Amino acid sequence: MNKLKDNFGRQINYVRFAVTDRCNLRCQYCMPAHGIDLAPRQELLTFKEMYRIIRVLTELGVKKVRLTGGEPFVRKDFVGFLEMLSHNDLLDVINITTNGALISPHIASIEKLEKVKNINLSIDSLQRDKFTKITRRDVFPEVYNTLELLEKSSLHLKLNVVVQAGVNTDEILDFVRLTKDKNVAVRFIEEMPFNGKGQRKMTENWTFKKILNEIKSEFKVSEVNSEPSSTSRNYTIEKHTGTIGIIPAFTRTICSDCNRIRVTSKGTFKNCLFDDGVFNLRDFIRNGASNEALKNLFLSLVKRKPENGFVAEANRTKGNVTESMSTIGG
Ligand code: SAM
Ligand code: SF4
Repeated sequence: MNKLKDNFGRQINYVRFAVTDRCNLRCQYCMPAHGIDLAPRQELLTFKEMYRIIRVLTELGVKKVRLTGGEPFVRKDFVGFLEMLSHNDLLDVINITTNGALISPHIASIEKLEKVKNINLSIDSLQRDKFTKITRRDVFPEVYNTLELLEKSSLHLKLNVVVQAGVNTDEILDFVRLTKDKNVAVRFIEEMPFNGKGQRKMTENWTFKKILNEIKSEFKVSEVNSEPSSTSRNYTIEKHTGTIGIIPAFTRTICSDCNRIRVTSKGTFKNCLFDDGVFNLRDFIRNGASNEALKNLFLSLVKRKPENGFVAEANRTKGNVTESMSTIGG
């Protein structure tokens, strides 16, 4: 069987799929207060179209999918889609990234789905007021309650913390302390400029190195061997139940082992987070493309995967990186 391999020998086995561009929150680093220009509904892929694209990708060796957005749980019957996707026998793992404000009523149903293994919950502050300022919505109690429910569930829980200079850097150590008794993987993410042009001026850049130094100011960390394609470098701390990780999303030191491609909610194929979209899959399939044609298309598209995120950014044709992360799927 033909497998997806790029020109740098990287095997592609992971797709990140944004199931919607809609979101119930308005995180400062992701979009402006008034939100973003939403795509008309008919421009979003249907669940059937998503299922088909994912099925074809799994026939080419993709084993893992991350469903993200926007907020996936805003999309009507998202849990039904998880069930549908679970029927794809070629898929090993379905992961979800969520802001956690809408998921609690669905945890029991999700636990029953064998392929859904990891939930990434985004939480950038442990203080209600600050959380409200960052997300522009007062939903901290619900999100924290979800964190506790997920931690007790059979799902593996990771926390995504976007490190924002002058906003939540004073809480990095609090998040590390959370791993003492909680079985969570806290992952600090370098902030990127995907903010839908809503962003305050960044005063300082909290890079991987700076975040690690802050953690080391109080904790003795040991690096663990992560899978080569891991987006984070991961660490344990003696006597802590959970683990920590740092994602060099902006300094992009992880590109050489990248195994990922992306599809946006409008069906745009992306080889890299930093490219500006390389193909419109939605129109291709709505114009009647066969599965065979889709396969050949994917095989050729990945050959255009840039060596790293800097090359992808330099090759953009639609201007600088300013689009909202909610349109790409983080
Ligand atoms: N709404 C869901 C959520 O927030 O988890 C899923 C979509 S969100 C775009 C996916 C991830 O991207 C979240 O963890 C979010 O914090 C992260 N993200 C959004 N904008 C970002 C930015 N400018 N820099 C770094 N991470 C960002
Ligand atoms: Fe919504 Fe997630 Fe963007 Fe926050 S980061 S505005 S929760 S899509």
